[in-house]
Amino acid sequence: MTLKVFNSLTRTKESFVSIEPGKVRMYVCGPTVYSYIHVGNARPLIVFDVVRRYLAQSGYDVTYIVNITDVEDKMIRKANETGTTVMDVAETYIAAFLKDIRELGIREAVHPRVTDNIPEIIAFIEGLVAKDAAYESGGDVYFRTAAFPDYGKLSHQNMDELQFGIRVEVDERKENAQDFVLWKNAKPGEIFWPSPWGEGRPGWHIECSAMARKYLGDTLDIHGGGHDLQFPHHECEVAQSETLTGKPLANYWMHNGYVNINNEKMSKSLGNGLDVKDMLAAAKPQAIRYFVLSGHYRNPLNYSDDILRQAGASVERIDNCVANVKHRAKTAVAGAAAADVAEAVKRVDETFRVKMDDDFNTPDAITAVFDLVTLANRYLQQEQVTAGSLELILQQFQAMDDVLGILSPADDELPDADIDRLIAERVEARKARNWARADEIRDLLTERGIVLEDTPQGIRWRRK
Ligand SMILES: [Zn+2]
Repeated sequence: MTLKVFNSLTRTKESFVSIEPGKVRMYVCGPTVYSYIHVGNARPLIVFDVVRRYLAQSGYDVTYIVNITDVEDKMIRKANETGTTVMDVAETYIAAFLKDIRELGIREAVHPRVTDNIPEIIAFIEGLVAKDAAYESGGDVYFRTAAFPDYGKLSHQNMDELQFGIRVEVDERKENAQDFVLWKNAKPGEIFWPSPWGEGRPGWHIECSAMARKYLGDTLDIHGGGHDLQFPHHECEVAQSETLTGKPLANYWMHNGYVNINNEKMSKSLGNGLDVKDMLAAAKPQAIRYFVLSGHYRNPLNYSDDILRQAGASVERIDNCVANVKHRAKTAVAGAAAADVAEAVKRVDETFRVKMDDDFNTPDAITAVFDLVTLANRYLQQEQVTAGSLELILQQFQAMDDVLGILSPADDELPDADIDRLIAERVEARKARNWARADEIRDLLTERGIVLEDTPQGIRWRRK
């Protein structure tokens, strides 16, 4: 079995071979911290967290970088709007970002900030100027795309047909419309750093090239990010880095698909954005991860409140099964695992790995988790079960969850917030005459030792 990864650069699934045996260097573009992260930002964070967890479980030592863009036009605008400084805006939203990803169960990563890497960025630009691949114009510095004949190779576009838009503006200070900014001259009152080209700040694309090189070297194993970053952002990173070093920037480029909200494209103008902090108030982190992983990472993913609720119910089914196995283990007879159970668990493990090895097919990997739920529930119906069999089942749940992160923390008391949310959901279910769901929630709470009491003031709960 070998891991296959769909490489955006070649548009094919390729066998994964790391540069250094046993090691993976991985870089994912992180947020610009001018507001809270939304579900569209959460998707790559969760997807690449799972990629990284799976690589680690497969025996690789993974160095994982997610940068933070803490100076940028949108941040300057936000600081002006709120009468604060760019650094204040950064501190507020970096803290919020770190809190969100911790709650989402994203494993620890290195998060370099742009403002801590200005000397490296300036040195990078100087290197490009020295190679005649960049030029100063009116205090700005631009990358000369004519110096990189492969420009367009990542997004598979011809130089002549390149789409202009979002962050590429036609500007008379440029030699060529496709040239892009590396260093921006500071306007009066704007935050700045001194440089050989005057006071200014880095452009967006150069940050990632400089930080990826500083932390991971000239060539990365995997560079990841949202599909919307492929052009121009990643294309520009390729042009800058490969011009400077003469080496490929990354061997594998991975891009995740968009998140739609109620089947519409999410956008600020539609006002249908959804912040992670609001999702976390409405659902368990494991349910959010399940929702994101229930679609293949390269496909579009549709969000609705109902889909998230269903994800919550699915996670609950797995949790309940694990709780039942643990409960039964207390009274199981001593003994090794039954041969048929061992065989079935092995098959689940193989399916899980085959699916993950196939370009991280998490929806099918989740199906393997439910195969284990079915297997466990059937085994629990037997009159006599052995401790060895139950232990094997639990180990397999844990091994899969080490990658997916969709199970509730072990032996944890149900947190108060979860109980309140489930009770509120039960009230709604009863109002909607959805008795099945209402009963399911009552049973779940009873199982977790929560007693409900109807009072004139509403429902109260206590722990048994
Ligand atoms: Zn980037």
